[in-house]
Parts: sequence; C-alpha cells; structure tokens
Amino acid sequence: MGGGDDAAFLEDIRAFLARELTPDLREASRRTVGVYTDVASGLVWHRRLHARGWIAPAWPAQWGGAGWSARQRYLWDRECALNDAPVLFAAGVRSLGPLLIEAGTAAQRAEHLPRILSGEALWCQGFSETGAGSDLAGVATRAAQDGDDYLVTGAKVWTTGAHLSNWMFALVRTADGDRKQAGLTFLLIDMASAGISVSPIRDISGEHELNQVFFDAVRVPVANRVGAENDGWVVAKRLMQLARSNNTPAALVRRSLNRVRRVVTEDAAADPALRRRLAELEIELEAFTALELAALPEGRPEASAVSAPSMVKLVGTELHQKVHALGVDVACAAGAPHLAAGEFGDPELDAAQLFMAKHLAGRASTIYSGSSETQRNVIFRGRLGSRP
Ligand SMILES: Cc1cc2nc3c(=O)[nH]c(=O)nc-3n(C[C@H](O)[C@H](O)[C@H](O)COP(=O)(O)OP(=O)(O)OC[C@H]3O[C@@H](n4cnc5c(N)ncnc54)[C@H](O)[C@@H]3O)c2cc1C
Repeated sequence: MGGGDDAAFLEDIRAFLARELTPDLREASRRTVGVYTDVASGLVWHRRLHARGWIAPAWPAQWGGAGWSARQRYLWDRECALNDAPVLFAAGVRSLGPLLIEAGTAAQRAEHLPRILSGEALWCQGFSETGAGSDLAGVATRAAQDGDDYLVTGAKVWTTGAHLSNWMFALVRTADGDRKQAGLTFLLIDMASAGISVSPIRDISGEHELNQVFFDAVRVPVANRVGAENDGWVVAKRLMQLARSNNTPAALVRRSLNRVRRVVTEDAAADPALRRRLAELEIELEAFTALELAALPEGRPEASAVSAPSMVKLVGTELHQKVHALGVDVACAAGAPHLAAGEFGDPELDAAQLFMAKHLAGRASTIYSGSSETQRNVIFRGRLGSRP
C-alpha cells in the first residue's frame, strides 16, 4: 500500500476515533492497571467497533473480520495507541475466534463467532491448575463421558476474567497414560452451567482480575468439544500460539511509553540518564514493531511458525516491564514531594500511584500465557533444537 492509500485510510480511522472514542473511554483506558480496561467501558468500545465492522482486524473478512492488510492493521493499532483506546477483555476476539475459524465445527462457528464479535459472549481461558502451569500437560480436571455430555470435575486457577465471562475454553483430562499430553481434550464450557463456582483472587496491585473456578460434575455437551477426544493438546498448543501472538502487542507498549513521556517534566528531561533510557526504549520498541510485523504477516501466526508467537510474547512483555519501570522512576520522582507535603489527590501523586500499580500488575506478564523461561524453551526447540 502506498502513501496515498495510507492517507485515505488514516483519514477514515482518525475521523472514526475522533467521533467514537469519547473522553470517558480515553480516561478509562488511561486508568487501566491490569490486562484490560474496566469492563463496562471496554464493552462500550467493543460495541462501537463491532457496529463499524472493525472489532476483529485479524479475522478473515469472510468471518466478520475487518479485511485489512497488515499495513492497515499496523496503522489502526498505532492510532488506537496514540488515542488511548480501551484495552478490551477479549480472549474471544484475540484467540478463541481464530481457533474456531481454523478448527471448530460449522455449528460451533455459527453459534459462537457472531456472539464473540458482538461482545455478547466474553470468554476466559481455563488451562492452568495448581499442578499444571508451565507443565500444562499435568491438567487433572477430569471429563468423563455420560451419554451426550461430559461430566467435568476439578478446579482451574489464575483464570483471568472468569467472573466476567459467560463462556470458558478449557483443557481437561479424558484419559490417563504414559504420555500425559495424549489424554487431554479441549472443551467449550457455558459458565452458567450448574456445578460451576468462581472464587476471586486479588493480585499484588489489589486488582481483581484473577479467579479460581471449581467444577462439580458440570455437564458439557460432547458437541462442545473442539477437535477429537484426547487430541486437545494439539488444539491447546494452537490456541496458545494465537494468544501469545497478541498478548502484549507493540501498540500496547507504545501506549505505555507515550504515558511515560507525558509525565516527564522539563527538569527531568534535562537529565542525560533519563534521555538515554527513553531513547533506548524507543529503539527497542521500533525493533519490536518490526519483529511483530515480520512474525505475524497475516495478523495471526502460521501454525508451522512454532517460535514466532513466543518471540513476540517474550520481547513484548519484557520490554513492557522496562517501560513500566521507567514510568515508576519518573512519576514517583515527580510525586514524592507531594507525598511528603501530604498533598493527597495532587495529579502528580495520582500519576505516581497509577504507574506503581501498573508496574506491580505488569510483573505477571512474564508469567501468564507461559513464563519467559517457557517462551525461551519453545524458541530453542523451534529454532535451535536441530543442527543447521
Ligand atoms: C496474572 C496472571 C493471569 C493468568 N491468567 C490465566 C488464565 O486466564 N488462564 C489460565 O489458564 N492461566 C492463567 N495464568 C496462569 C499462567 O499461565 C501460569 O501461572 C504460568 O503458566 C506459570 O505456571 P505456574 O504459575 O504454575 O508456575 P510454574 O510452572 O510452577 O513455574 C514456576 C517457575 O519455574 C519456571 N519453570 C518452570 N518450568 C520450567 C522449565 N522447564 N524450564 C525453565 N524454567 C521453568 C517458570 O518459568 C517459573 O519462573 C495466569 C497467571 C497470571 C500470573
């Protein structure tokens, strides 16, 4: 796409953002601490994007995607970041929808894709358990077939947004054997089913995004299985590729770095050490943006590109943490005198508290969706495990 096409596209999306991204939504986005903006604001934004046909930039147009090129998706993400668009709680849009497009049945697509696009259905991910994190194949929540249903019993933990979700995609155990991976099945579970209870977990910043979810003989139709019974490992690995590829996109890091730049005072900007850190982060972010575009040419990872999603996730989350750390240094230096003077409510002190909360919440980003060590292991196996 040439510069002229860029100009027309940019004019279109900027006009939309100026009209639809109202000040209340921008403010809600600026106050995001965890992995999504407050869900009420997020849903308002979700519905506006859906009404315009832009809620799923990375889905094929045939299934309700925006039908944009990689360049257009990049420009869109950049404009959303520059304008503080809300960060959506949208595992359905980001990972389950693309998975169902690839691997779901016709009935599953017909039932779920429209409701994911509209925001009617919010999805959470039920993979981790107390004995299954990095070693995900250790999943012990059991599903036993009973007529046309499975009966699911067990517990999931660290389930982001389970308290907000009406559906969960889950990995459950349907068989035992020598190879743990061979006995797992991927199910779509209606959170309104009898026998499910959700218990909150507060994170280090005080936010409630995490939960533990208990299943007591929960009936799940066999028709809600994605892929074959005992073949869930393959399905879950693909889901993780999709999730990792957009877990911390360059646009999200750009948004955070912009926020840091906004709190840099003139005095602080005179400090050479700070200038150097800002310059280094800008360079790393440019490199990350290029990596993201190269690794995800269609906005989604190729199934065969084993290590690309892990590279994007690893680089994005570690860079994001560096940006958060700089934000704390800058904002706390500006806020500290107000704290000492007891000027609670001062905007600089408020900014310092917000950056501290983001920094604390952001520690989890190199753990969830597979820790940095796990990503490095995947990259090693995908790229370096065989001799050239
Ligand atoms: C904020 C947050 C949100 C989350 N949201 C969800 C969610 O929505 N759904 C969901 O299913 N899960 C979720 N998780 C769980 C997350 O996926 C797990 O925490 C993660 O996979 C790590 O597993 P673990 O906590 O059991 O740690 P462990 O697997 O016990 O790992 C402990 C440490 O050992 C290291 N380690 C483990 N194995 C190896 C190895 N082979 N080589 C090198 N180092 C290793 C790890 O990197 C880590 O540092 C979330 C977690 C957090 C913190």
